[in-house]
Amino acid sequence: MPHAARPRVMASVDAGLESAIRRLEGFLAIPAISCDPAHDGDVRRLAEHVRADLERVGFTRARVLDLPEERQPVGARRAHPCVAAEWLGAGASKPTVLVYGHLDLQPVKGEPWDTPPHEPVRKQTPSGERLYARGAADDMAGWVSWLVATEAWLAEGGELPCNVKLILEGEEEIGSPNLERFMDAFPDAFAADVMVLTDTENPSVDIPGLTVSLRGLLEVEVACASSTSDVHSGLYGNLVPDPAIALCMLVARLVDDDGRLKILPNPVDPAWLETSRDVPLGDDVLVAAAHLRPGVKPLPERHLTRAAWAWRQPSVTILSTSLPQPGLEKNAIRKQASAVLSLRVGPGQTREALLEALTRAATAAPPMGVEVTVKERSGGSMSWDYNAVGPAFEAADRAYREAWGREPLRIGIGGSIPFVALFGRRFGNLPLVLNGVMDPQTTAHGPNESLHLGVFHKAIKANVALLDELGEALSA
Ligand SMILES: [Zn+2]
Repeated sequence: MPHAARPRVMASVDAGLESAIRRLEGFLAIPAISCDPAHDGDVRRLAEHVRADLERVGFTRARVLDLPEERQPVGARRAHPCVAAEWLGAGASKPTVLVYGHLDLQPVKGEPWDTPPHEPVRKQTPSGERLYARGAADDMAGWVSWLVATEAWLAEGGELPCNVKLILEGEEEIGSPNLERFMDAFPDAFAADVMVLTDTENPSVDIPGLTVSLRGLLEVEVACASSTSDVHSGLYGNLVPDPAIALCMLVARLVDDDGRLKILPNPVDPAWLETSRDVPLGDDVLVAAAHLRPGVKPLPERHLTRAAWAWRQPSVTILSTSLPQPGLEKNAIRKQASAVLSLRVGPGQTREALLEALTRAATAAPPMGVEVTVKERSGGSMSWDYNAVGPAFEAADRAYREAWGREPLRIGIGGSIPFVALFGRRFGNLPLVLNGVMDPQTTAHGPNESLHLGVFHKAIKANVALLDELGEALSA
């Protein structure tokens, strides 16, 4: 049975949309850029501002969390704060839902914005009204949609239909270097029965998405060497191996004629492949989103769908090479050449398996018999592959059907989000609902980032319904 107040709460969300947008604009005016020490004060200022707002909404224990001194990272910058809040008035028979979002922003330096990035501007577009500002959709509106939904419940219903904890991170945009330290220092702030991680994309402004997979990331350095010094290319060309050419041949061996990684293909479930045809990734979408030049087309689908290529298959990108640079030309065969490759790891595949397959492909029968070495670089992240079934996801389907008019599409992300892999590792036994307010026109991390205001509205309503549906579906 839906909560008796639910229709009233929904109506108040409709009536209060304008003030919700204005509140969002207020948060967006603070340049909380976490990578730039010059903005450290802004991250804290925003955290304090949000904390005060959460208290006003009716959350209890709204607090700015700082890592205790003994848990601060050694030899690195101090951790930015998190904001935590909770409302546990629904009692022990009701589940506790943890909502995660992040309040920090990507930098804007050097980007060609049409309007000032920290002065939110609303514009009409062919697909509806959008709000332009750094962080509008990544991730400010993501968690503000929860703040607005919970406020509407408390104001109209006098209570929330389940217990809610909110955790807002201050350094997601620098890769969540200390999030696990916060989990260890404040386990109570993270303890919950179901988690909603709200920082991901929807396939379109009409199709909501629940993210269920991420690719991992592996960086390697591949080097080819042939001699102990550079030698004259006129005297030794055609006689001894050229490691620069060997390196190009070696990289070319790893990919097919479309430039796609050939090693360790990830099996794709036929049923999933069929439904992935619903993902709107047509030529027109890709040409615009990837800024393709006239005449350049997206890669052919072959035996898979675009979504399968982007979300499920491993891929390779050259990050840098030690090939001779412009200005340093000389008529010599260089003694060695190397490349740093970034490999995306398919969901369900491990970095170890991909590294092993790559090493085998690179070192077996090296081009021209040069010495080949493959070294893993530090960093990277695990892939994540999740089976989104069970009562929490049935609840999510019902909530989205009410707010969006359709169930969310189970989608993947081709990129790697460290905090998701971390939550997956620490809390993978809990239902993890990954949603957000981004859409393909958002251009998160780029100039003119924007939020579709219709998506914002639907997100708030989906949250209102989801709290109620989870409260019902997971109650003891
Ligand atoms: Zn984000």
